Amino acid sequence: MLTITYIVDNSLYVNITNRCTNNCDFCIRNNGDGAYGSNSLWLEREPTVDEIYNDIMKYQLDKYDELIFCGYGEPTMRVYDLVEVAKKVKAASNIHIRINTNGHANLVHRTDVTPLFEGIIDTVSISLNNANKEDYNSICHPAYKNAYEKMIEFTALCSKHVENVVMSVVHGTIPDENLEKCRIIAENAGAKLRIREYIS
Ligand code: SF4
Repeated sequence: MLTITYIVDNSLYVNITNRCTNNCDFCIRNNGDGAYGSNSLWLEREPTVDEIYNDIMKYQLDKYDELIFCGYGEPTMRVYDLVEVAKKVKAASNIHIRINTNGHANLVHRTDVTPLFEGIIDTVSISLNNANKEDYNSICHPAYKNAYEKMIEFTALCSKHVENVVMSVVHGTIPDENLEKCRIIAENAGAKLRIREYIS
């Protein structure tokens, strides 16, 4: 099965990979194989750039609030393909384009990829998840030892190239007293903090 796109509320979500450099305790991948009633988001193979673009263009894009690269996995594992698709979509429509990410892209690709977002990606939402490295590691189990610091650095770099940069935490997964610390971390990186609800 190749479920590349699915709709949540009035946004169009794009599922391009199941790979991820985290293994979060709360990951929706651990709770079944769909999200919001979509078909299975486990991909039997990763779709090509053309397959992703053609799937997106099946929709009347001006009817949707946002196009969101998210899905069952970390979309920036394929950041070059993601940007290629987003560039084509941007040329064909005015839809607002967002990436939901764990913020590890510069570690994965060993270079600063954030300049690629300039003029193409409208929002980057980075999962901050916790107020310090130890607690982050204990719930996200990242593949990289320095994932937390590099995720915050990635956020600050995104702020130079993307108009709307957000850091998110999942409501109920961290103590309330850490929320204010998260807000300060986000603001220092040039981002706003968003407290999102857990998706089961
Ligand atoms: S970063 Fe996202 S996709 Fe990756 S394990 Fe965590 S919740 Fe799942």
